[in-house]
Amino acid sequence: MSTNEELFARAQRVIPGGVNSPVRAFRAVGGTPRFIQRAEGAYIFDAEGKRYIDYIGSWGPMILGHGHPSVLEAVQKAAADGFSFGAPTEREIELAETIIGLVPSVEQVRLVSSGTEAGMSALRLARGATGRSKIVKFEGCYHGHADALLVKAGSGLATFGHPTSAGVPPEVVQHTLVLEYNNVAQLDEVFATQGGEIACVMIEPIAGNMNFVRASVPFMSRLRELCTKHGVLLVFDEVMTGFRVALGGAQSVYAGLIPGFRPDMSVFGKVIGGGMPLAAFGGTRDVMSMLAPLGPVYQAGTLSGNPVATACGLATLKEIAKPGYFDALSARTRSLVQGLTQAGKSIGIPLVGDSEGGMFGFFFASELPQNYGVVMGTDKERFNRFFHGMLDRGVYLAPALYEAGFVSSAHSAADIAATVHAAEEALRG
Ligand SMILES: *Cc1c(COP(=O)(O)O)cnc(C)c1O
Repeated sequence: MSTNEELFARAQRVIPGGVNSPVRAFRAVGGTPRFIQRAEGAYIFDAEGKRYIDYIGSWGPMILGHGHPSVLEAVQKAAADGFSFGAPTEREIELAETIIGLVPSVEQVRLVSSGTEAGMSALRLARGATGRSKIVKFEGCYHGHADALLVKAGSGLATFGHPTSAGVPPEVVQHTLVLEYNNVAQLDEVFATQGGEIACVMIEPIAGNMNFVRASVPFMSRLRELCTKHGVLLVFDEVMTGFRVALGGAQSVYAGLIPGFRPDMSVFGKVIGGGMPLAAFGGTRDVMSMLAPLGPVYQAGTLSGNPVATACGLATLKEIAKPGYFDALSARTRSLVQGLTQAGKSIGIPLVGDSEGGMFGFFFASELPQNYGVVMGTDKERFNRFFHGMLDRGVYLAPALYEAGFVSSAHSAADIAATVHAAEEALRG
């Protein structure tokens, strides 16, 4: 049996940084990443046989926990029938019908294989449909690693951004405006001066790539108003929040707060694949009709709508659509956040948290941050100590203070209690 350290050393010889996605390398928190051997329900087991209560859930997809029996059965059955055909299947229609049935703003949907691909395609479609080039995103929101979206704010107010990655030429991001999340004044200013040139605004409605930050209701309703007024498409990136914060996604949460609210386009991933490579983007029939083969906007994929992935996604969505599912998941997630914040309070450490459905965040701060700058100003040293304290105690949290956490329906009340107990110890330690 190899240790995590041995595997990490071996991995680093053949894979850049030893990982196939950077956050897995534990760079933000230091230490050795755990190499996972298997998982079951709410738990993952590393190469050394150590068990962890899993609050990452593959960064969101594993909402039912690992190895849910009906999902496993659906996947095994689909795999036996064939891995990939490169031709249409009935299951793709079923999945599209299911998504449309759960998300009223989506009239048509196209399936792809990753959130990055879905976001990139949605962007091209928004530009193609409006005939405009400029796009707006918000600092701290992640929409996958397409060139035009790897951008951070420039120095001045609402200026064009700078690439956040080498290999992205400045010309490629010259049409991307980066604004501060929850800043209504900036929105007003940008729309007043450039509203007619903007194709779309892309937003994580509850931002999970800066831990857990909600778009405020005044901000979201102003954004909707301005987009409508200027013919700008409002694109909800629900790769993380879709089928995770509620059955109808974050848009159903905002529809409950802002009468008649809906986005123009939506991007999904993570939960809709149930742990398989699957993502989607959708919107009104008018906009979606601009896509090839009907329209002039090109988009394609060899493995798009993969039969095994769609089986996994469908079986997952079927489970979470059962009556009472989200009420129970939300209550469990709330009990975790309450336990953590109470632990902070009793020990005298500033600790705040928030959750929606099965997604949560917590901060070593005295109030919930409203934007990326504030998130990144929270106590990083304390977070890193806490992360390792929890890991040592068998609780696997996201290894960076800017990542959200996820609770699955496999997490029991006893798992939550054990987690809170570990947190009390880790915070004291
Ligand atoms: C994870 C994520 C993506 C990217 O999805 P991948 O499948 O990793 O390419 C895009 N947007 C949001 C909001 C995400 O959380």
